[in-house]
Amino acid sequence: MTRVVLVGPPGAGKGTQAVALSERLGVPHISTGELFRAHVSEQTPLGQEAKRYLNSGDLVPDSVTNEMVRERLAEEDTEAGFLLDGFPRNTKQADVLGQLLAEQDSGLDAVIELQVPEDVLVERLLARGRDDDTEEVIRRRQQVYRSETAPLLEYYADILLAVNGVGDIDEISSRVLDALKTRS
Ligand code: ADP
Repeated sequence: MTRVVLVGPPGAGKGTQAVALSERLGVPHISTGELFRAHVSEQTPLGQEAKRYLNSGDLVPDSVTNEMVRERLAEEDTEAGFLLDGFPRNTKQADVLGQLLAEQDSGLDAVIELQVPEDVLVERLLARGRDDDTEEVIRRRQQVYRSETAPLLEYYADILLAVNGVGDIDEISSRVLDALKTRS
């Protein structure tokens, strides 16, 4: 049970949980948001392309994102599995991920949905204060989540595990691990 995708609205705690779970499960944490921010800060051509999307809260074009993920998943450390955080973010990306994994004769084991009420989300993001955590950009990211990303819950209905994302970090990690056990 190690090829796992974390889904949830901005502020749901995907990154925080992915770090904790990656240690517990012994698989790498792959965050497309972090990969993009690294490209932006290193001012690579990909970073220059991605920057305006990050700053507005819109999705980076699929062609750019899919290629970046394809390269990352080709690295050896993913052989034992991975925790994907922030990818896929729409059903087209999900199709691409499915194809990439099918080429390796594998597939996803589970998709974890972190469920958090909207007022808690906004509170968390404003407290975090990342560059793209202004009220306007947060609102845009939430809109994008509802229209682009939420359809993944239906797309992955067969392997979806919903987990309550409110509580202590450790408590939530334990809930995720328990949910994964129910499927192994
Ligand atoms: P959050 O978890 O708060 O939504 P992320 O760090 O995951 O933030 O993503 C920040 C930004 O990076 C997004 O608003 C988007 O512009 C870009 N991004 C991240 N993942 C993807 C993706 N899979 N496809 C397109 N854009 C993405």
